[in-house]
Amino acid sequence: MNPIAFDNSYARLPPRFYAEVAPTPVAAPRLIRLNEPLASRLGLDPDWLKGPEGIAMLAGNGMLAGAASIATAYAGHQFGGFSPQLGDGRAILLGEIIDQDGKRYDLQLKGAGPTPFSRRGDGRAALGPVLREYIVSEAMAALGIPTTRALAAVLTGEAVRRETLLPGAVLTRVASSHIRIGTFQFFAARGDVEALRLLADHVISRHYPACSGEGRYLALLEAVVATQAALIAQWMTIGFIHGVMNTDNMSIAGETIDYGPCAFMDAYHPTTVFSSIDEHGRYAYANQPPIARWNLTRFAETLLPLLDADIDKAVPIAQAALDRFDPQFQVHLIAGFRRKLGLATEEAEDVELIRSLLEAMQQGEADFTLVFRRLSEEAAQDSADACRSLFSDPAVFEAWEGRWCQRLLRETASAETRRGAMLKVNPLFIPRNHLVEAAIEAAVERGDFGPFEVLIDVLARPFEAQPGRENYARPPEMHERVLATFCGT
Ligand code: AMP
Ligand code: MG
Repeated sequence: MNPIAFDNSYARLPPRFYAEVAPTPVAAPRLIRLNEPLASRLGLDPDWLKGPEGIAMLAGNGMLAGAASIATAYAGHQFGGFSPQLGDGRAILLGEIIDQDGKRYDLQLKGAGPTPFSRRGDGRAALGPVLREYIVSEAMAALGIPTTRALAAVLTGEAVRRETLLPGAVLTRVASSHIRIGTFQFFAARGDVEALRLLADHVISRHYPACSGEGRYLALLEAVVATQAALIAQWMTIGFIHGVMNTDNMSIAGETIDYGPCAFMDAYHPTTVFSSIDEHGRYAYANQPPIARWNLTRFAETLLPLLDADIDKAVPIAQAALDRFDPQFQVHLIAGFRRKLGLATEEAEDVELIRSLLEAMQQGEADFTLVFRRLSEEAAQDSADACRSLFSDPAVFEAWEGRWCQRLLRETASAETRRGAMLKVNPLFIPRNHLVEAAIEAAVERGDFGPFEVLIDVLARPFEAQPGRENYARPPEMHERVLATFCGT
């Protein structure tokens, strides 16, 4: 019996949507880690996946009957400049599976060898970026943020050349789909309206079935705007910086995708940038909402011919849909920060309360994650000493804290209830850069996957205190700070 029942809806689209290509076998596949809970949720057999046939599939050494084996075509704006042809240069879609709840997922190998879209690339992935994506995407999932997932990581037994020779690896990525804004741009750039219509209909039936029927392309645009507004607000409330918000890295389904030089902020500062390739801070923390709207504008442009045959009529329709991004984003953001501050009721001045806390954190160089965590822990106490100590100038915090306490007097919930609610939304553990780098270094330099395994385990329960693991919650010491992250592609 075939261990995986594929049903490949994307491969049933016309041939110009993809290239058929088989993964290039590797020398000596070795499983680093299988995400067993995820495998089970997807209805896959963990024991089979861990066995020789399973590992061969995860390494690209053996294809199952029914697999699609395609590299998808897409375009994209990278740092503002348009490339009409990018495509999966080192990723191969094995196919789609349907989980127990009837939800469809892509299984994709990242680093599986060259494809017709590889250009000058080798189609491979180095171990470091594979582990980074595994760690951060799984942490995001545990934090409750829509994201692609990591099903497995395998070593290839081959070296890849970057600046130096590095161990090669393949990541098996699970996503609701790998359709990006850039997928639409690929066809728009070619004036291929028929393909755009097929793609839009595919996306509607797959991701936004409620949009079906008359007026569906406008409904699709509005739905994608809404999911992105919700997603970016979640990033902002957790201190996540994607790092490469190019239009080819924006999922139409609204999942966080393509973990390159992504990072979480330690000390709060709106201009924080980690990515070594982001010289001008285009994708800095505070720029993420306007960049998302910019990307959505590129998406809307691709839909114009579907919105109305008369472009002069289509433009204002698209504009009105895009104009909904800012207010929707604000609503999600304020709701998210209200929850973080334990506010179950809504007052107009809350916005100012949130803004002034962020300003105090910026001034006091306070750790974003720990401020909210300690506010939660101390929410049922009279003192906020532990939180205060996070600020270089405690006076800034004290002034703010007085206002917060006044505000809490107008809440109806008990302090204990509030504490419980806050602890559920303010994580103790995030994938801090210095921890991620240390786990990667141990694996790459010494073949020691212990720190990676422990980190994965800690981050699987980000909201729970884990005795003995306090060290994973603390911000980096001065000498541990990671100032730049690399995508390593
Ligand atoms: P990314 O920065 O990962 O979003 O990738 C941007 C584009 O470069 C995509 O088309 C990738 O498929 C392609 N790419 C990245 N790394 C490689 C590689 N090692 N070999 C071939 N193509 C690559
Ligand atoms: Mg990408």
